[in-house]
Amino acid sequence: MVKYLHMKKYTIITRPDEDSLQLEKKLHKVLTAHDHLLDSTNPEIVFVVGGDGTFIYAVHHYLDQLENLCFYGIHTGTLGFYTDFKDSDFDEFLTKYLNGDTFEIKYPLLEVHEESNIYYAINEMRIENVVRTQEMDVYINNQRFETYRGTGMCVSSQNGSTAYNRSLGGAVLQEGLNLIEMCEIAGIHHKHYRSLSSPLVMSDTSVIRFESDNFTNAILGIDSDVYSIDEASSITVQTSPTKTVRVLRGREISYFSRLQSLFL
Ligand code: NAP
Ligand code: MN
Repeated sequence: MVKYLHMKKYTIITRPDEDSLQLEKKLHKVLTAHDHLLDSTNPEIVFVVGGDGTFIYAVHHYLDQLENLCFYGIHTGTLGFYTDFKDSDFDEFLTKYLNGDTFEIKYPLLEVHEESNIYYAINEMRIENVVRTQEMDVYINNQRFETYRGTGMCVSSQNGSTAYNRSLGGAVLQEGLNLIEMCEIAGIHHKHYRSLSSPLVMSDTSVIRFESDNFTNAILGIDSDVYSIDEASSITVQTSPTKTVRVLRGREISYFSRLQSLFL
């Protein structure tokens, strides 16, 4: 547990709604009164005001300098998976930070290789083809596992298990578990076409490779971004051995409280 006392260079990433922008204003005021300097180019701390979607946006915005900064988030809505505080907890959120009463944790990223492109995802990567049946061979740790046919596949991190993965019927993975999960997106199953069909939870050391002669019209989804992969023949995903996301936490909240707060 690392304590941070004097983080001076900061920035704020805010979801552009009334409540969040209001909170951003208040935050600027307090921070500049406490020896903080607005520096959006080289911040040491990135405050995130909004939702999990805002957090994902912030991570992608600072993807090239993740080792130099950490994120600290407040959610203007429910409790998030990437934030410990709701807007009604604003005072506690600030006091904890200013007193250095926070601890740092690291979130893994998924690293996706497609030809010479490398992408990083905090929630999940998807291969999706809504135009025609996508056929692909799935390799796990270099071993051919199955031939899949259907709309696509989703590979999720533990953090992403409550996002798209959950909508696909994938299992929610408790925080702290070093796992990744692969889910089919509308797989076709009958006597000629067989793939596992059920979600597959794997160790986060697994390397998954999707191969196809034809990815025409398929897209590669990386969190909220999508890329065309018409020319690709092979796409690999694994937990990034190099990049992680540093996050300040101000409270211990049980994972089940988060789940309850969002879904029940
Ligand atoms: P977005 O509107 O920012 O996010 C869609 C919803 O997913 C929001 O309500 C967001 O929460 C929530 N969310 C994001 N990450 C989450 C997580 N790890 N656990 C639980 N909920 C989470 O949409 P976007 O910016 O295009 O995409 C961001 C993410 O949305 C993607 O990574 C994908 O997982 C998810 N998504 C899901 C579906 C689906 O379930 N069918 C479809 C598309 C995208 P906040 O309200 O707190 O921001
Ligand atoms: Mn969003």
